[in-house]
Amino acid sequence: MTTKSIRIALFLLVILQAGLTTTASANPFEYVWQELAPGVWAGIRQDPFELPQEGNSVFVITEQGVVVFDAGGSPLMGESIVAKVRSLTDKPITHVIISHWHGDHMRGLQAIQAAYPNVAIFAHPYSRDFIAATQERWLKRRVGMVPNIRKALDTALATDRDLKGRALIPEEKDWLLKGRSIIDQLDRENHRTTYVVPNATFADRMVLYLGGRELRFLHLGNAHTAGDVIMWLPQERIVATGDIVTAPIPLMTNPYSRDYAGVLQEIKALGFKTLVPGHGAVQHDTAYVDLLSDTFRSVSAQMKSLIARSIQKDDAIARIDYSSVESRFTHGDAFLANRFHDYVSAALAEATYLIESGAGITEEF
Ligand SMILES: [Zn+2]
Repeated sequence: MTTKSIRIALFLLVILQAGLTTTASANPFEYVWQELAPGVWAGIRQDPFELPQEGNSVFVITEQGVVVFDAGGSPLMGESIVAKVRSLTDKPITHVIISHWHGDHMRGLQAIQAAYPNVAIFAHPYSRDFIAATQERWLKRRVGMVPNIRKALDTALATDRDLKGRALIPEEKDWLLKGRSIIDQLDRENHRTTYVVPNATFADRMVLYLGGRELRFLHLGNAHTAGDVIMWLPQERIVATGDIVTAPIPLMTNPYSRDYAGVLQEIKALGFKTLVPGHGAVQHDTAYVDLLSDTFRSVSAQMKSLIARSIQKDDAIARIDYSSVESRFTHGDAFLANRFHDYVSAALAEATYLIESGAGITEEF
């Protein structure tokens, strides 16, 4: 396996955090719903590492219809969103806006469109075009991936080692066992997934004024992808960031590291009181956004200096020092430390090398 495919596989093999206990439920992918303000609901994956990764979702109920921001990563999650909306209002879902093109935020679209055939589905033009151009390839990979995940899980559990050969800690073994238990359901979801191409786009900004509410959708620059959109509710001071912010460990899938801290600063400058990340728990202050900004600034500054000294790629990546930020993410937790290593260390350093050396990055997921 290449480093990239190992990273993708590790990224997919996501499970239970230390100490978290769960009870069996009919939909093991279910959201936990939180009302953030009257009529503003967030669907949060209680364990952000749990397989399969499903992006958080937010919806806003207005007198003129319901607006959904991000649709989850499987038909089941789209059905969960529809069921939650129907339990609260008889108003239809009129608009869905997706934060970016990654499947864990938009593979639920088919269920919303089936329930509300007239729904308008918006994305940044980059995201819409990316989905249109790549949907067949992703669908094929989606259907084909489960046997590989099953094999990787079985091997890891049999040998007590992960794909890199690192010994599993007990929390990781629990995580993998939990992941193994839902693999057939994941397979069924993948086989019934169809990709829905958004039917409307906006480049930098769209504002909906519906039933006395104001909902702003903003592209603030390249960060997690080149087509990221956030939702900002100025009256409620609630921001939903998509995967520009993911917690407690950031997902560094080809990040645009040079522009990223600037985008985070713009999010901070909104003056939010509530932040819904793309994965992980709702935030009520700017501490985590600041930590992310510090991380990007530190890695970019180090990499610029290494490139200026003509240090070669692999050496430069290995020399990036995360000691000023790592413990602020992991707090000494061994499971989080391993996730930091798998999701952040080499991935962010490599993307930063490619950007700062002028080669540029290619988006993959
Ligand atoms: Zn995501």
